[in-house]
Amino acid sequence: MIYFIGAGPGAPDLITLRGAELLRRAGMIVYAGSLVNPALLDYAPQGCEVYDSALMTLDEVMEKLLDGERRGLTTVRLHTGDPSLYGAIREQMDRLRAEGVEFSVVPGVSSFCAAAAAIPAEYTLPGVSQTLIISRMEGRTPVPAREGIRSLAAHGASMVLFLSSAMLKELASELIAGGYPPETPAALVYKASWPDERVLRGPLASIPAMAEEAGISKTALVLVGGFLGDEYDLSRLYDASFSHGCRRASQ
Ligand code: SAH
Repeated sequence: MIYFIGAGPGAPDLITLRGAELLRRAGMIVYAGSLVNPALLDYAPQGCEVYDSALMTLDEVMEKLLDGERRGLTTVRLHTGDPSLYGAIREQMDRLRAEGVEFSVVPGVSSFCAAAAAIPAEYTLPGVSQTLIISRMEGRTPVPAREGIRSLAAHGASMVLFLSSAMLKELASELIAGGYPPETPAALVYKASWPDERVLRGPLASIPAMAEEAGISKTALVLVGGFLGDEYDLSRLYDASFSHGCRRASQ
């Protein structure tokens, strides 16, 4: 059995109990060294084989995983955050399926959750937005035309942008061109949950200059939307005059 495990955003105690338990009995770990905190490898037992996939191709990663599996090792593929977001796990899962190898996926705390905690903020505020859009600027990986930042921005929803902190000027101008006023509250969260985490907050139009001054151009998320502001409605769930499945209205 091969396990794809979400390592969480960085802090070693933000992996799930299931993920940590599997690392404790791993015989081989192939981890995404560019982003996974190496401190997570401390969960691994002595003698566990550890490989950094940052320098490997897909073929090489698959070769390692299949080799671990053939030798009967508990084999772990460790991805940053949650593997379902920009994790490139589909291609690995499909190869394993083609080889008839069983695998299981253990979810993780994505960095967009750790970024909200760092602020701290709630993405889905009543009266502000009930939608979170997760996307990215186009890089070497193309983004389908109908998902351009500008058209997503037109919703005015809460947004989190991955993989875009090296393109902040373009990002901010696309977001503004799409309809966010330049003064929309925004934040840049660098290395959420790591010891050197940094949170920069300001109006959307100022984020690129703030990032440049702070020297941040990678491992960061851009958060934008009214949810970072001060206005919102109270929730209905905890409203004293509102009944629901678990509680009767008190007034
Ligand atoms: N699967 C991961 C995302 C991988 S893509 C997840 O769920 O978080 C890599 C991008 O994620 C980085 O370029 C950066 O935009 C973001 N990222 C990953 N870890 C981060 C962290 N601790 N703080 C801020 N951004 C992070």
